Amino acid sequence: MKNVTFPNGMTVPALGMGTWNLGDDNARRDAEIRSIRMGLDGGLRVVDTAEMYGSGRSERLVGAAIAGRRDDVYLVDKVLPSNASRAGVRKACAASLKLLGTDHLDLYLLHWRGSIPLEETVAGFEDLKRAGMIRAWGVSNFDVDDMRELARIHTPDPCCANQVLYSLDYRGVEYDLLGDDRAAGIVTMAYSPLGQGGELLDAAVLRRVAARHETSLGPATPAQVALAWVLRQPGVLAIPKAGSPVHQRENMAAAELELTKADLAEIDGAIPPPRRKESLAMI
Ligand code: NDP
Repeated sequence: MKNVTFPNGMTVPALGMGTWNLGDDNARRDAEIRSIRMGLDGGLRVVDTAEMYGSGRSERLVGAAIAGRRDDVYLVDKVLPSNASRAGVRKACAASLKLLGTDHLDLYLLHWRGSIPLEETVAGFEDLKRAGMIRAWGVSNFDVDDMRELARIHTPDPCCANQVLYSLDYRGVEYDLLGDDRAAGIVTMAYSPLGQGGELLDAAVLRRVAARHETSLGPATPAQVALAWVLRQPGVLAIPKAGSPVHQRENMAAAELELTKADLAEIDGAIPPPRRKESLAMI
């Protein structure tokens, strides 16, 4: 499987696991836990959660899924902008660690920009790093201007990642942000890469491309093509959410797919790349 390397030298597989909405429905809990464990068994490492998701239900579920195997996981969490003061990040991080049943996060992100000055949030992240509560920090939903502003803040440790919406539904970041992040060595984490399982997966072009490919599981699916399309980008880490082992297995097999130039051209014909700056879209 393709890897990505963060600016601090940490290397992880380019396919990870999202967890928004996991833990919300007790009837699905077992399947969700099995899904995360199957991903880890299959070699995935990155698990992405946030204090916002289900007000801690996602973190609690992730904690249950990774219990006894913390070292297999590259754990990413996100702090709400309203908690992103210097003291606030410490309190929020401590609460998240408790729900997750661990003593550190591998990567802690500012979920989106709020009114607290970036310098203060970053100082809070650096405090957490010194305290051993996090290994690295980054941001989410930062557009080009936000990233430039962040780059002007002097920090002992670099911003390691920018987590943004990137899928065939939302290609705007291809115009500038992806290249800028890559040039700075910052990993772009692509969220909602499957278009949240919505209309994108019914796109005729994805069905046509899928019909030309096989994975070890059998004929490729539109979801696998959508995911392989995101994973084709160097320096991009995709974090689809699979609430069941069936979807997790299918997503892992997507990493086997090599889209051809003809596939990519056909996709561009149906869903064109951006030709001008588009403001960063967010969910
Ligand atoms: P995704 O694009 O990952 O889509 C998830 C949906 O796709 C679910 O309904 C899931 O169903 C379905 N699905 C998963 N695998 C398959 C498959 N192989 N075939 C068909 N359907 C499939 O959307 P998310 O919004 O969940 O994004 C992924 C992650 O990104 C989030 O979970 C979260 O961790 C992160 N995120 C971050 C944001 C931010 O602001 N930083 C914002 C939004 C998301 P099922 O559950 O039944 O498997």
